[in-house]
Amino acid sequence: MTLKDLAIGESARVSKTGGNGELRQHFLDMGVIPGTVITKIKLAPLGDPIEFDVNGYELTMRLADAEKIEVETESSVVECPSGRIETTTNSKKVVSTLRPGSGPAGSTTVGTYKSTAHPGLGEGGKFHAKGDGDPLPDETLLTYALVGNQNSGKTTLFNQLTGSNQHVGNFPGVTVDRKDGAIRGQPNTLVTDLPGIYSMSPYSNEEIISRNFVLNEKPRGIINIVDATNIHRNLYLTMQLLEMDVPMVVALNMMDEVTGNGGSIDVNKMEELLGVPVVPISAAKNQGVDELIKHAIHVAHFQEKPLRQDFCDENDSGGAVHRALHAVIHLIQDHAVKAGIPVRFAASKLLEGDKRILYALDLDVNEKEILEHISLQMEAERGLDRSAAIADMRYSYIKNVCSQTVRKPHESRERIRSQKIDTLLTGKYTAIPFFILIMALVFFLTFNVIGAFLQGLLETGIDALTGLVDTGLTAMGTNEVLHALIIDGIFTGVGSVLSFLPIIVTLFFFLSLLEDSGYIARVAFVMDTMLRKIGLSGRSIVPLLIGFGCTVPAVMSTRILPSERDRKMTILLTPFMSCTAKLPIYAFFTAAFFPKHGGLIMTGLYLLGIICGILNALLYRKTLFKGEPVPFVMELPNYRLPSPKNVGQLLWEKAKDFLERAFTVIFMATIVIWFLQSFNLHLSLVEDSSQSILAKIAGLIEPIFRPLGLGDWRICTSLISGVMAKESVVSTLQILFDGGVNTALSPVSAASLLVFSLLYCPCIAAVASVKRELGTKWACAVAFWQCAIAWICAFIVCLIGGLF
Ligand code: GDP
Ligand code: MG
Repeated sequence: MTLKDLAIGESARVSKTGGNGELRQHFLDMGVIPGTVITKIKLAPLGDPIEFDVNGYELTMRLADAEKIEVETESSVVECPSGRIETTTNSKKVVSTLRPGSGPAGSTTVGTYKSTAHPGLGEGGKFHAKGDGDPLPDETLLTYALVGNQNSGKTTLFNQLTGSNQHVGNFPGVTVDRKDGAIRGQPNTLVTDLPGIYSMSPYSNEEIISRNFVLNEKPRGIINIVDATNIHRNLYLTMQLLEMDVPMVVALNMMDEVTGNGGSIDVNKMEELLGVPVVPISAAKNQGVDELIKHAIHVAHFQEKPLRQDFCDENDSGGAVHRALHAVIHLIQDHAVKAGIPVRFAASKLLEGDKRILYALDLDVNEKEILEHISLQMEAERGLDRSAAIADMRYSYIKNVCSQTVRKPHESRERIRSQKIDTLLTGKYTAIPFFILIMALVFFLTFNVIGAFLQGLLETGIDALTGLVDTGLTAMGTNEVLHALIIDGIFTGVGSVLSFLPIIVTLFFFLSLLEDSGYIARVAFVMDTMLRKIGLSGRSIVPLLIGFGCTVPAVMSTRILPSERDRKMTILLTPFMSCTAKLPIYAFFTAAFFPKHGGLIMTGLYLLGIICGILNALLYRKTLFKGEPVPFVMELPNYRLPSPKNVGQLLWEKAKDFLERAFTVIFMATIVIWFLQSFNLHLSLVEDSSQSILAKIAGLIEPIFRPLGLGDWRICTSLISGVMAKESVVSTLQILFDGGVNTALSPVSAASLLVFSLLYCPCIAAVASVKRELGTKWACAVAFWQCAIAWICAFIVCLIGGLF
């Protein structure tokens, strides 16, 4: 029997984790290991993927993957709806949850303090350093990697740690945000927020980045953020980070929720068991962060490495894994030192079957053979295959740690609340209506209410400023050319681009609410089946929908996609979603040429865009983005209130990012277009626009447009100006044709013009966003490719139109 066959609500024990390679490793890392009890919760509304509960958290997985996991139902498997880890059964008193004196005064504590010996790791005065205890010179830059699972509160903590001293960039070669910043009040520090990972076995590009950062950039310390409400799975990564042999602090986040529900964690005991400082915090409430900083500085300054790295149990099944691990450690010691990889980490990865590490270690043929023999022997003795055996070893240790330190609340209010919300938001009949409703609301508020209001405000401001400068320049008797450049070129151009800003900020406000609250993960779950047909995964629906509003924020919002492949492909598809700026073009031409069929034509255009998008997606899937679609083993985090600080930070980043582009790429383009429009070949200002350089260029490309029935320089000129902003296609046409467009075109050419405008090169602001995400090459390719497709489609329209 496989997980797929399990009935809804039924629990079973995993008997075999199938699949192969990295996907299988990912299953294991997420806790789907033989012996674990799994409960099927529900199917997505479209029948795929499924959601299930393992160890108290919700995972989603596609049916095709669920088929690979064999389970057995036995009467003895007790229904374990929330998979709680065994709580301590003896009559131990509730122990401290926040250390006395930690955090701001009055931080919540539950129960009475029990005197568990406080190991005092990572604190001044005592030296627990392994080996030497030489502090680093004072002026050494203390670099930290902020590592943790997705949704564990990394970004929230990062914002608390650094305040506003943040630098946002990219990791080299990939479009993955890299955020660095100095800890507030500690100028000699640099924290880097890494992409969320579940284990040190890379599975996606992002995970490779995080792992390589820790392995290669050799941070002076690691701040490992652990979601205390999900501690079992979160500690899995901790186990592996400890093997890195880098000074480390564990930040137990979300302690407010744990204590709020009556749970507690014996921090001192956990510290002792893990061998590194453990600091309970609440990133969202800024509790315990100061203490975390103190410990982080201390361990890095004194280079206090983890006291413990050996987590194998000598007595477990005859200690097969233990013996294998130690044998491998001895075997590869010299190679690991040479390759600069922590030996303990290398050994466990080798036993797991990690090819990258095997390659990096450069073992001899003999050594490889010995390694293989050790692995086989371990498998035979342990009765589990190598990856499962290692995963099991880690989870066993975690179970042991948790049973000694964690008192889980009987129920978590946040969890119950999430389940209630999910009956609606991922319910069989309600999920899609709610999704449509929520997106419609976001659109309505952005384009009709808040965004529109802000846009109006900004435009009034810009108009007033333009007027002021205009009169000022006239009064000063400024040179005619300079005057035109400032007013018609710079102010008009930049003004029209700036008017995007309110829309972008408002859209991102809603988007960050949806993302941080945990809703986007649900969208991925609900929409996955549909998008998978075109080779994407569920999350991509959000940027694509935003594309119907405006391509710029749509492209920017692809950052919510966890996989780089999906991100690229989604960016290439957004221009097919007809943006609102094209509406004036549609409205104008349908009113002039097809007044009776306005609705039909508009719908047809939107559909045509979507169909072209789908066809392109299918094409990309066969060519540019071949290979496996990204597997989809994802967590559905509890719904949480987004923190205003995170939302504010994101808005600020996006606004800054856009403004930078507005005043570089877009600014330059504006001036170039203005110049071409206003000057003739003798570089004097033109009276009649037919004399301008732009008109001459339009005349040159006019033959290309002749087969489309658009062989007129005026049409070409307006299409070129449409690259600045789509709205200006209509206004330019009206000026150039002196209001007589209606008579100058035949209905067939009008139809062809409509189709061409729908599909051709996105506006300069959108192209600049693509450039920002994917680089110049891709941006040029997008511009060119869209024009080519538009030409072909418009040509087909002409051919069909010619038949009637
Ligand atoms: P990341 O994915 O690891 O970067 O996680 P985020 O920083 O985006 O946090 C995910 C969600 O958890 C957000 O809605 C935060 O507001 C929330 N959150 C973060 N830290 C805490 C905390 O200490 N307590 C509570 N209750 N919520 C938190
Ligand atoms: Mg984050």
